Amino acid sequence: MTFSTFSLDRRILAGVRDCGYETPTPIQEQAIPLVLKGHDVMGLAQTGTGKTAAFALPILQRLLTGNKSGRALPSVLVLAPTRELALQIDENFNQLGRHTGIRCGAVIGGVGMNPQIKAFSHCRVIVACPGRLVRLLNNGSVSLTHIDTLVLDEADRMLDMGFMPDIKRILAKLPARRQNLLFSATMPQDIRKLAENILNDPKTVQV
Ligand code: AMP
Repeated sequence: MTFSTFSLDRRILAGVRDCGYETPTPIQEQAIPLVLKGHDVMGLAQTGTGKTAAFALPILQRLLTGNKSGRALPSVLVLAPTRELALQIDENFNQLGRHTGIRCGAVIGGVGMNPQIKAFSHCRVIVACPGRLVRLLNNGSVSLTHIDTLVLDEADRMLDMGFMPDIKRILAKLPARRQNLLFSATMPQDIRKLAENILNDPKTVQV
């Protein structure tokens, strides 16, 4: 199998080539077609399996073929537990999307808020740590009213780190109609419950 099997836009395939990816990893083989079709997905996979591209590639494709209003309001929100992971996802998204004109911005703690607030005016994808995003929402500087795709990455770690209240606050600000992807390395009871609450008739992929 190659990446062309998924009928991704040639601008996305150019990003894949730039990254040096030749063959899809097992999580990519399974998840990409499901996300492209618009399904909610529960992905059981560890970091290192290629799970970032497993959601980033089909999301980029849907952004390219979907609403072409031209306004760069964020329509995709990725939540990640740590600054390091958020920055990695942000970098991977920007590399894969380099030829598409779609930009991704990171919203993390420990750095200035103003550039992050500005990111909401030119990025279609926002990768955020829950705590910082809640701060921006509370002071009214950003809005999530255009989000139609939500990714929870390393959900088990987010719950372990005590982010559930922040995640709930964020979910309350999202439009109800959206595609939801939840990735977790493990499937304890609290993740099962979160998945039941968030995901709509999900397909499960596992590596
Ligand atoms: P991730 O699990 O998303 O953190 O990815 C782990 C590493 O694998 C990252 O350095 C990715 O750039 C890389 N990677 C992702 N997909 C592929 C692929 N299909 N072929 C080669 N490397 C990949």
